[in-house]
Amino acid sequence: MDKPSKCPKCENTKFEVVNETPVNSNYELIFVRCTSCHSVVGTIDFYNIGSLIKKLADKLKIDLDK
Ligand SMILES: [Zn+2]
Repeated sequence: MDKPSKCPKCENTKFEVVNETPVNSNYELIFVRCTSCHSVVGTIDFYNIGSLIKKLADKLKIDLDK
């Protein structure tokens, strides 16, 4: 079994996502953070660009795998 992801600061293995708008940002970001000490371990753009591009490609009938 894979080892679970762990917080680099406190070694907790549980994470949560929160929407926040950083100072000087026009956009909300989704932060992945430790549930224990709230250290941020990753961010996801709010609109999930990867998913948007896929939808756009589908509408344009473009096969991204080719
Ligand atoms: Zn932590």
